[in-house]
Amino acid sequence: MTTLSTVLVTGASSGIGATYAERFARRGHDLVLVARDKSRLDALAARLREAHRVGVDVLQADLTSPADVSAVETRLRDDARIGILVNNAGIAQTGGFEQQSAQDIERLIALNVTALTRLAGAVASRFAQSGTGAIVNIGSVVGLAPEFGMSIYGASKAFVLFLSQGLHLELSPKGVYVQAVLPATTRTEIWERAGIDVNALPEVMEVGELVDAALVGFDRRELVTIPPLHVAERWDALDGARQGLLGDIRQSQAAERYRTDA
Ligand code: NAP
Repeated sequence: MTTLSTVLVTGASSGIGATYAERFARRGHDLVLVARDKSRLDALAARLREAHRVGVDVLQADLTSPADVSAVETRLRDDARIGILVNNAGIAQTGGFEQQSAQDIERLIALNVTALTRLAGAVASRFAQSGTGAIVNIGSVVGLAPEFGMSIYGASKAFVLFLSQGLHLELSPKGVYVQAVLPATTRTEIWERAGIDVNALPEVMEVGELVDAALVGFDRRELVTIPPLHVAERWDALDGARQGLLGDIRQSQAAERYRTDA
């Protein structure tokens, strides 16, 4: 009988991360749960051990703190049982760009961009050497939509999508699976934390439905999973148009419309 790999989930104390933890426990995986709120993590760990008879470790970490990120990196590098990383911890943005303090900007980028990238970096070589492993990065449809008015948050999620696409190209030939999951509005605490009433928002997905759909994409080894997108061809068309640019964007001469010698 093959042993299922351990899953490390960041932001596991609530919302999407806690739901991923529950779903993987249900599938029989041991877990490492990471977030700041240790008492919530301990309570979830106890519940999952009891309900699903799996091993659950709790690793308290503030992923905006470089020292705490280092501790999680060490665990990811050294614990060869960990075969799936769910890079989920993230915060949203309150207010427009002009309302952001330097600290707000630092915190959002430290968590949504720097920590996520460093943690993927901590497993990449080990996974590639073993020819197995999965990195799941939670992005957002906001990363496709500057029109939604959350410029820093959206930019951080555009980064997550690009990073996932790049890691897929680099690591999938070595047997590592990379998935970007792009939820739209999902009923979690992220909204309350950002001072927004989720009940005032249209088209809110329940968190269980979101994670179950994301796991269908995971099981299919899909690179980009957008659970709320009903017309899959829309994504294919967007990605196809982007790839269509590739043959054209590397030229030694400026385009005619920018030439000053005419
Ligand atoms: P959530 O319920 O607020 O969960 C966020 C998780 O991140 C919590 O476990 C929180 O735990 C953890 N976290 C926050 N700051 C942290 C820090 N400094 N260090 C370590 N952990 C931290 O929100 P969610 O909706 O489930 O969000 C999960 C992911 O989904 C995020 O990346 C978010 O951008 C993405 N997403 C959400 C939606 C949505 O509508 N809900 C839509 C698109 C994408 P502690 O407070 O205990 O640290």
